[in-house]
Amino acid sequence: MLNVFITIDTEIWCNGWKNLDERFPASFNRYVYGPTKKGNFALPGTLDILSDHGLKGVFFLEPLFSARFGLEPLIEIVEIIQTSTQEIQLHLHPEWVDESGDTLLKGITQKIPYLSCCSLQQQIDLISWGKNRLVEAGVTHINAFRAGGYAANSDTLRAVAENNIKFDSSYNPAGSEGIADMSPGQILTQPCFIEGVYEYPVSIMENRKKTKKRIMQITACSFSEFIHCLNQAYDKGWDSIIIVSHNFELLSPDKSKVDEHVLNRFIRICKYLELNSDRFYVRGFHELEPTVNPSQPEPLIGNPIETGLRMAEQLVRHLKYN
Ligand SMILES: [Zn+2]
Repeated sequence: MLNVFITIDTEIWCNGWKNLDERFPASFNRYVYGPTKKGNFALPGTLDILSDHGLKGVFFLEPLFSARFGLEPLIEIVEIIQTSTQEIQLHLHPEWVDESGDTLLKGITQKIPYLSCCSLQQQIDLISWGKNRLVEAGVTHINAFRAGGYAANSDTLRAVAENNIKFDSSYNPAGSEGIADMSPGQILTQPCFIEGVYEYPVSIMENRKKTKKRIMQITACSFSEFIHCLNQAYDKGWDSIIIVSHNFELLSPDKSKVDEHVLNRFIRICKYLELNSDRFYVRGFHELEPTVNPSQPEPLIGNPIETGLRMAEQLVRHLKYN
């Protein structure tokens, strides 16, 4: 069986950093519920599709925004996800630090774009605050972490271990931030043990010439590319595939409409995983017995014909929604 993790980074943005308090209520509604003429396609739509297919999702939930706007909105999100019996884990965007006075870190007046910009002690403190905040909001078991924007470094892994969190899934082989620091000289594609935590890298595909890497994200790859990679990983005896998405990926860029292309793709992927549950075990990090791969296989190869189909599909989407 191939472990498949459908991970959904769940976060709120206010389209800039001005007039935050005025903007927050409408932003919260858009990012959490995502009302459209066809229904609510932020968290509710995503959760419904997962339950329609009996699949587990991992919601990496960002709590630092609540240092500015209070615990109640965070509790509301936790309840929506828990009502659907899905897993909640910890996600952090340090961009909220300077917007929250001295609550998160003392004396910070500049924007912190990446967690990897923070010292080890600052990272330990932020992860500790975020974990405690999720517990305060009603989350009972947190054993996995992902840095915002995958911007982790080896200090992040140490800080995660220091907070008694067993798993990390911040390593993005298609990204640049912290990659060389976390695993000098090699690209990680499968679980391994580094700096006291089990690292589950997000999955990527490469083109045949190995010049381009793309993350396995719902908005970034076609249905055929997903299926091609899932089958490739299964045939090669891989341990795990980590798919990524966000709470707002089923919506158009302005969040006013449902994106039919992405919606259909997500439904088809979920249906495929449901129908092929004899090969693909869609699961979370709770009760996960970690495996460690001493040798790291080469990244999966995206099929060039399927990449062409995706590019055509993305062009249609761009013309329709931009
Ligand atoms: Zn994020």
